[in-house]
Amino acid sequence: MAKFTPAPGLEEALARMVAPHVHRIARQVQFEAQRLAPPTKRWVTMGDDRVRPTHVKAQGQVVPGNLRFAINSMDWDRRHRGVGPKTYMLEPRDQTSRAVANLKNCRCATHTDPQGISRHINTGQPVISGKKVTVTVSVAAPMVVEAEVGTVYPGNLVADGAFFMSRAAGIVAARR
Ligand SMILES: [Zn+2]
Repeated sequence: MAKFTPAPGLEEALARMVAPHVHRIARQVQFEAQRLAPPTKRWVTMGDDRVRPTHVKAQGQVVPGNLRFAINSMDWDRRHRGVGPKTYMLEPRDQTSRAVANLKNCRCATHTDPQGISRHINTGQPVISGKKVTVTVSVAAPMVVEAEVGTVYPGNLVADGAFFMSRAAGIVAARR
């Protein structure tokens, strides 16, 4: 029975040959993920002495666009609206947070950064191990796992995942 035995080092040589191709595919995944990634949003107060303490504390907080800010609750809302220590808002004055006192007369705003997540998406160099070629597309940013798969806040407030990484991989895979 004939059996093909690769010449010594052939599989490694082949792996080195396909490595640039694998790298190009990974770069395509990176570009699609960057296109699909949600923006980030930052809580911005008016910065004067009329800003309530719970919002002074929130100044500068950055979260992915599909998630909620975690704002310290106000006592009235804890007593009358059943919120916990934190109030979870999509944006200032967000009634879906179920707060009332923490929304009233609020003058805060959000600033959006379209590249807040996408600029952190990177493609690594090919790693060749025997006959295997691995290229990793990664994203390191605050709350990026929750941005990808979604999360549930206390009070059963659901944030849907953006699935930008898995959708990117699916789009590139469908091209092949
Ligand atoms: Zn405010």
